Amino acid sequence: MHAITRSGWIEVISGSMFSGKTEELLRRLRRAEVAGQSVAVYTPAVDDRYGETTIGSHAGRQWEATVIDNEGEGPLDILGDEPAPEVVAVDEANFFSNALVAACETLADRGSRVIVSGTDQTFRGEPFEPLPQLMATAEYVDKLQAICSQCGEPASRNQRLIGGEPAHVDDPTILVGADETYEARCRDCHVLGTGERPDGGRGRLSGEPDSPSGSDG
Ligand code: ZN
Repeated sequence: MHAITRSGWIEVISGSMFSGKTEELLRRLRRAEVAGQSVAVYTPAVDDRYGETTIGSHAGRQWEATVIDNEGEGPLDILGDEPAPEVVAVDEANFFSNALVAACETLADRGSRVIVSGTDQTFRGEPFEPLPQLMATAEYVDKLQAICSQCGEPASRNQRLIGGEPAHVDDPTILVGADETYEARCRDCHVLGTGERPDGGRGRLSGEPDSPSGSDG
């Protein structure tokens, strides 16, 4: 493959949770560091964290990252000063608005190699912006598979569990502070709660494949 040398570009690392996205991001960052390239790493301000933090993987490796405000549709504070870093990485990109797409385009236009990691599906199995737009506009896309927690098949979906029960299809896409856990599951084993939700309670479970829902909360 002929490498791009005259401009920047965008790489997307996507797939379900527990598919090794952050580990792959860290692997690419280590290679850039060994090559002596300048690197900037950003992560969203979920859980009200601010300032500097580390991105880490389940394998235990870490990298210093700058936390940036991911609320709203305004410009993202990842553009920095020129000259732009040779490599700009964004982890947990699914927590950003679509403003991330324009920011990555600007960085790539300026000559940076932009590496974006994030899950591409909501817990309902639907496209989770901004990853779909990033995957369409990127030069390179890798979609990683996890292992289904139920049957061991390759897993592409995020199973949200609340109190051990499958989340309801009408739950908001992003829940902050909820008592939730996630598993990677395959298409067959992925389950959504459906039906009545009296007083916000858990709905009756359905083994049917998830049905589309327009409600994002
Ligand atoms: Zn399965």
